[in-house]
Amino acid sequence: MVPLTAFSQGTRPTAAQIVERIKANVGVPWHEPTVDVFKAGDPDAAVTGIAVTMMATLDVLQRAAARGDNFIITHEPVFYSHLDSTGRLESLRDPVFLAKAEFIREHHLVVWRFHDHWHARRPDGIRTGMVRALGWEKFQDTEDGNVFHIPSTTLKGLAGDLKKLLDIRALRVVGDPDAIVSTVGVSEGFPGFEVNRDIFQRRGVEVLVIGEAHEWETVEYAADAVTEGNRRGLIILGHIPSEQSGMKECVRWLETFVKDVPVEFVPAREPFWIPE
Ligand SMILES: [Zn+2]
Repeated sequence: MVPLTAFSQGTRPTAAQIVERIKANVGVPWHEPTVDVFKAGDPDAAVTGIAVTMMATLDVLQRAAARGDNFIITHEPVFYSHLDSTGRLESLRDPVFLAKAEFIREHHLVVWRFHDHWHARRPDGIRTGMVRALGWEKFQDTEDGNVFHIPSTTLKGLAGDLKKLLDIRALRVVGDPDAIVSTVGVSEGFPGFEVNRDIFQRRGVEVLVIGEAHEWETVEYAADAVTEGNRRGLIILGHIPSEQSGMKECVRWLETFVKDVPVEFVPAREPFWIPE
């Protein structure tokens, strides 16, 4: 991290200018419609610092503001739906929504989402960060980036490694803890049942590692696959831990072409805990 004093005052780029640089560097055409748009604040505000996060929770916004960052780049939505549609929350005068929106206003924060195009990068920016965090570069299938051939271990052993490497409190597993696995399918975030099923059924995949899923879709499917002896297990990391390292990767990338304002990673906290 570069000390703040290295950045001169008075020549700050605006948030809109930072986004233009991202578009110029991302390496894939900019597709519309996209969720990668400004969600709150004034895009023409001068940027004092960039906080990159997996999910712009109020807790993340508070920590970013306290550090003097006014431009928040978030992978996931701010207002609880994929498109950040706030109409209903506004008309209901929802207190949670109003408090968050007020915090953003009060602290003159600018929030922009970086989701579609970070995933669209080749290789996918989120996957790159995940692979780096796990040290799985050498295990990735040369033809199928969702598939990894790891040294044989038990389902329990794999789950324990993932829990440790990704620093997860509330990881969940479906399947026999002692089942032997070596071919792993990976599906970060929430791509939905169709994508999860597709990766799970790819040749050789024994265990699927996901971010989150509807329990009555992917999880029921995985339970049936285990009962039938078709597959060995499912590991649910949680959405934030499954993509967090992918946004850490985003900081590394941004620092290659944003040198006039500080870029910091502000990790979103895993929301869950489990009783001892
Ligand atoms: Zn994602």
